[in-house]
Amino acid sequence: MPVLTQSQLHDNITQVRQTLSRAAQQFGRNSHEIQLLAVSKTRGVADIQLAIACGLLQFGENYVQEALPKIQVLATFPDIVWHFIGPIQSNKTRLIAENFQWVHSLDSLKQAKRLHEQRPAHLPPLNICIQVNVSQEPQKSGILLNELVTFAQAISRYSRLQLRGLMTIPAYHEEFSLQRQPCHALYQAYQQLQMLGFQLDTLSMGMTDDMEAAIAEGTTMLRIGTGIFGERLPSPFVKPEKV
Ligand SMILES: *Cc1c(COP(=O)(O)O)cnc(C)c1O
Repeated sequence: MPVLTQSQLHDNITQVRQTLSRAAQQFGRNSHEIQLLAVSKTRGVADIQLAIACGLLQFGENYVQEALPKIQVLATFPDIVWHFIGPIQSNKTRLIAENFQWVHSLDSLKQAKRLHEQRPAHLPPLNICIQVNVSQEPQKSGILLNELVTFAQAISRYSRLQLRGLMTIPAYHEEFSLQRQPCHALYQAYQQLQMLGFQLDTLSMGMTDDMEAAIAEGTTMLRIGTGIFGERLPSPFVKPEKV
């Protein structure tokens, strides 16, 4: 049973798209250059099917154990693109390499090597965004900005990985101008890598609460969970993290 109704979900998606186009217009962006990745963690297959019926095809998941059954059931929809956006555990890299088309949360060379070696030969290279900890929060995943060039060079050696861009989860700020700062820092890093010759086309930043700041600062892919599916459900697979 879906938790949402089709019309609730439709309304949510319409609202997200309106916010997207409004912000794009306000900040001189072309809204067609900004993709919507629906973060479907804690949501069941029925809700994802409703989202597909509303025209969404890109889905993001944080936990491999939670995602795999959904990916298997929804394999009947060949156009779905699955993005892994959660912390990467070494014992899960094979399943990630085999089942996802994208990884947004790469921040370790050890994991990069494993994903490269484990990406099946019959599949195209795994699309990669490097996760960057722009706000330099000690408890957060992601590499630091000053490590980025070396890290990008190192993973570019792996033929089974295709470096597409950068991802961040910035600290939340009530104040819009403060919210823009970490997004701007990631955009600058993205431009710097492009100037060094890296062919990047994806800036994965912006969630439900900071999507406008991310649009103002050049995002190309918003990762939206609650804005689309409503408040997150307790995951049946993962204990809530202690705060
Ligand atoms: C959950 C999650 C999102 C979506 O967050 P919302 O605030 O629900 O839009 C985006 N990115 C990552 C990495 C997440 O874990």
